[in-house]
Amino acid sequence: MRASFLSFSPPSLGDAERNEVMDTLNSDWITTGPKTKAFEAKLRDYVSAPGIVALNSCTAGLHVGLVALGIGPGDEVIVPAMTFCATANVVEHVGARPVVVDVCPDTLNLDPEAVAKAITPRTKAIIPVHYAGHPVDLDAIFALAKQHGLLVMEDAAHALPAKYKGILVGSRSNLAAFSFYATKNLTTVEGGCLTGASDLIDQARIIGHHGMNRDAWKRFDKSGSWYYEVVLPGFKYNMTDVQAAIGLHQLDRLEGFQRRRREVVAAYEKGFRDLTALQLPVERPEVESSWHLYVIRLNLDLLTIDRNTFIEELKARNIGTSVHYLPVHMHPFYRDKYGYRPEDCPVAADAFSRMLTLPLHPGLSEEDVADVIQAVRDTITTFSRS
Ligand SMILES: *Cc1c(COP(=O)(O)O)cnc(C)c1O
Repeated sequence: MRASFLSFSPPSLGDAERNEVMDTLNSDWITTGPKTKAFEAKLRDYVSAPGIVALNSCTAGLHVGLVALGIGPGDEVIVPAMTFCATANVVEHVGARPVVVDVCPDTLNLDPEAVAKAITPRTKAIIPVHYAGHPVDLDAIFALAKQHGLLVMEDAAHALPAKYKGILVGSRSNLAAFSFYATKNLTTVEGGCLTGASDLIDQARIIGHHGMNRDAWKRFDKSGSWYYEVVLPGFKYNMTDVQAAIGLHQLDRLEGFQRRRREVVAAYEKGFRDLTALQLPVERPEVESSWHLYVIRLNLDLLTIDRNTFIEELKARNIGTSVHYLPVHMHPFYRDKYGYRPEDCPVAADAFSRMLTLPLHPGLSEEDVADVIQAVRDTITTFSRS
């Protein structure tokens, strides 16, 4: 057994990030400024986004996105059951109703058939989530949106960089929100961005900065002006130059990070594929996953322990894991407000009962990966039903 605890998802920060942060702190400009603009430009090139605004979180991006799309009271927004709570919370923030639908058994992504069934005259938008970094079947979602006149805003928190049919998530004209939270593929500690058509992004930038008209962030700079006007009651969601300083170098290292993630995924696949007690994650042929999370599902009928005990057994073997996620409709707020039962989204509820997320990050060594594989195999051998 390994001697020290293997953390589930530590950040991969280096001297380049540290030096750039110090450079920012030693400058006259620490909040939204030149480094945020540079990070936005670099990100926009990287994902080929028509427009982009850097923000202080993905949640902020989703929130301003809904405001920019004009979603509000009386509207319904379709969200998948298998996602982080923020996807649904932002719909509540604008006074609309999140309609939670089930996911596909293989990818745990929003199921287009479930979406079709959930559409009502009040439906205004769909928020597909690229779960674990595996792109949603966007063709099916856009076809439904077109047929019913709906807006699509992607929750791309896991999906930097992920491709659907050769096209990078975030490069289309519809809105897509990315996260740079501490555990995500690229981090700015906290942070995020919203991509999409430039007119929508211009709107989103104003909404995310108090509703002040354009370039008000420059008002303390020689090139700026003290004068600004508030055109709507916006939010305080801007990214700081300290965050952007980190992001600039994380983006330089992203391709390398992704290469290592794919190596680890290949090693897990090889190390687990003979285990009938496990259901491994898939990558459909038409996509390139960003492999944000490596989520396995236990075939519980082959084991004498449940998922929670499995996690405790891995912890006892010094392997940190997590669970992504308790489905939205099973959180007390959504369950009680809308009367959801677990079986309303049976695929998500079943997946939740037997899923866990293994460590997957660029800092994993060969020994770390071997330790994870050994701990999982040992736990299965010890608690096998046969
Ligand atoms: C992390 C995450 C978010 C929120 O990102 P923040 O940057 O922390 O606001 C939203 N949706 C999903 C699916 C996430 O995993």
